Parts: sequence; structure tokens; C-alpha cells
Amino acid sequence: VRRRLPVALVHYPVVDGHGAIVTTAVTNLDVHDLARSARTYDCSDYFVIHPIEAQRELVLRIRTHWTDGSSAKRIPDRREALSRLRIVSGLDEVWDALGGRACVEVWATAARDIGPTIAFAQGRERLSDPSDSRAVVLLFGTGWGLAQGVIALSDSVLEPIRATDESYNHLSVRAACAIALDRLRGAR
Ligand code: SAM
Repeated sequence: VRRRLPVALVHYPVVDGHGAIVTTAVTNLDVHDLARSARTYDCSDYFVIHPIEAQRELVLRIRTHWTDGSSAKRIPDRREALSRLRIVSGLDEVWDALGGRACVEVWATAARDIGPTIAFAQGRERLSDPSDSRAVVLLFGTGWGLAQGVIALSDSVLEPIRATDESYNHLSVRAACAIALDRLRGAR
């Protein structure tokens, strides 16, 4: 048994370097890289969340180019990755797409300790718990990370990915997503 494990990339509300709530711009890299990681680890969906319509249209253009455009024929594997991409305006749309908030368990991620966390080993177990049919939504932030409001609405926070030497910890969201998915669903 493997619980559904959608990934979501949040562009608002996230924080900037001063802790202010901001909306970040979509980067093409995040669209492709997280889609490839999500497909590799068999995540059912990859939600790109953006409140601004023009930004959602940009993501749709990228997706269409790689699923139906010239590149789809050139690189079929990428088409497969981007076919799981879903573009929504906010977290409520993510819950709705998955059957409603009661049908999902939400795990936020962060580079620093921000509250009671789930260890990766625990997360791995919970993802194969046959008694819980809820999807587990993994939330990744942009900018300097998810805003407090997003952490507060999550059920748990996944433990930060750490090196043995904790003096420097500034992974890109692309790297963080791939490492987290491998720890949760990588072959052992
Ligand atoms: N803006 C940069 C970028 O391009 O990725 C760096 C910040 S990155 C977007 C911050 C997000 O990446 C966090 O909200 C979290 O989802 C994830 N992240 C970064 N470092 C992490 C770590 N050590 N453990 C877990 N998640 C991490």
C-alpha cells in the first residue's frame, strides 16, 4: 500500500529575506525539476500554486509546450513528467482536487526547525500505512520559505534535511524536493 503523495510548490504566501509575506515569480527550472522528481518517485500530482493569473498562464504555456508542442515529440520522457503538473491559484484548490481538506494530510517542509516534526523514517512508514487512505500533500516553498500561516494550516512539518555539519543549510527547493522524496520513497 502506498498513499497518494502529491507535491505542491507554493509561490504565495511565502516569506522574503526579512520575513515579510511576498509572492514570488515562477521559475522555469522549478516547473521542470519538481515535475521530473515527482514523476520519478510516482507522486500522483505536482501542483504549482500561484495567485496571479498571468503567472498561471505562463506555467500553462510551459506545460503545453512540453505535453503537446514540438518538444513533446523530441523528449517524450519530459512530456510524461509534465503531464502530472496541475496549475492552481491556491491551497484550497489543491484540497478540492484531492477530495477536500478532510481527505488530505498536509506536511510542510522547511530548512529550519519550526515546530513538531515528522522524521523521514516516520514519514516513510506513514506513507505505507494501510489504515490511512488520505493523500499526503508535501508543501514546498519558494523565496525564503513557507509563510507561518501555511505551516499553521499543515498537519505536520517534515524534519529539515540536514548535513552532519549544520553550519550551512541553503538548499534550492529543487534539491530539497528531490532529497525529501528519495528519503520518503527512494529504493532502499
Ligand atoms: N529561492 C531559493 C530556490 O530557488 O530554491 C531558495 C529557497 S528554497 C525555495 C526554500 C524552500 O525549499 C523551503 O520552503 C523548503 O520547501 C525547501 N527547503 C530548502 N532547504 C530545505 C531543507 N534543508 N530541508 C527541507 N526543505 C528545504
